[in-house]
Amino acid sequence: MSSPTSRLHPATIAVTAGRPPHDPDQPLNVPITMTSTYVATGDLEYGRYGNPTWSAFEEALGALEGGRALAFASGMAAATTLLDLVGQDGGVIAPRHSYSGTIAALADFESRGRLHATLLDITDTAAVIDAMEADEDCAMLWLESPTNPALEVADIATLAAAAHELGIRVIVDNTFATPLLQQPLSLGADIVVHSATKYISGHSDVLMGAIVTADDDVYAALKGRRDLMGAVPGPFEAWLALRGLRTLHVRLERAQANAMELARRLAEHPAIEEVRYPGFGAIIAPVIAGGADAADFVVRATSLWVHATSLGGVESTFERRRRWKLEATTIPEGLVRLSVGIEDVDDLWEDLRQALDRIN
Ligand SMILES: *Cc1c(COP(=O)(O)O)cnc(C)c1O
Repeated sequence: MSSPTSRLHPATIAVTAGRPPHDPDQPLNVPITMTSTYVATGDLEYGRYGNPTWSAFEEALGALEGGRALAFASGMAAATTLLDLVGQDGGVIAPRHSYSGTIAALADFESRGRLHATLLDITDTAAVIDAMEADEDCAMLWLESPTNPALEVADIATLAAAAHELGIRVIVDNTFATPLLQQPLSLGADIVVHSATKYISGHSDVLMGAIVTADDDVYAALKGRRDLMGAVPGPFEAWLALRGLRTLHVRLERAQANAMELARRLAEHPAIEEVRYPGFGAIIAPVIAGGADAADFVVRATSLWVHATSLGGVESTFERRRRWKLEATTIPEGLVRLSVGIEDVDDLWEDLRQALDRIN
């Protein structure tokens, strides 16, 4: 496969990385290789160990993040494979407003005595450093930035430097920012994890995850774990995710522009108590005045915005996060997480505004 060099800009990498060579009769796109096994004595041998369609996806995502990628069956498959790197009773420090599935996985590992977790306000850099220093068994600093759904931003560079002085490994869940808005490896993180289900795939039609690292030993350890635990994606999923990734920059540019405009308009609406928006990306978390009832009314009162969980698709979706039992109780009852799509911004605003206007 042809490899783009680091001279290229992200948009060019997104379009060109992981393509077959420019030779006569080569397809432009890597085909979907449907096979469970390979003729023996090669590099692949068996379908759980490797697949050419995964490799194309991994090459493209790795090039965007600045490391080597491994594809997984879902974001949670990637996340739990990472948590499994923590040795017996090792410490993990994570944002208290991490993705609720990550918090649940930490609690599950902890309940079985595998590790101990400390959940903190990730914007309080000094407190996070204190916590790392206080736990001599701390093995992993798990960052998610921005957090889902509170949209808090961590100082990745400062925290990574402090973690490394203490011999602590740094993971960043980069699902919300994507490699186009934030490259954690260049900020000092050891490993990036993605729910590729979201922006990378971008069309709400595939579940996939990925890990990226520039450290060959970490890569080998994680590849070994993927081989053993078997949380691998299907070739068709990998093909869809790569097809989605080809337009990531164009989708994100439009979705972000829409989100910036909607954040501005929402802040001026009297039914909104507070707008959480980190200033980049396409997720906004307005807190509706009137709490759960008012927010539940809004998510049922629109025709373009779809009431659905998940995020990062071309279509605009939203949900009141506290409807989930797993969501942190420090998230306001009236917080609605908007995943802004690439529709016309005035149409999106009209649909939201008429719902907000009708709250009584
Ligand atoms: C959705 C999500 C995950 C989990 O990914 P799945 O693909 O649903 O397993 C992890 N982290 C964040 C930030 C997410 O939004």
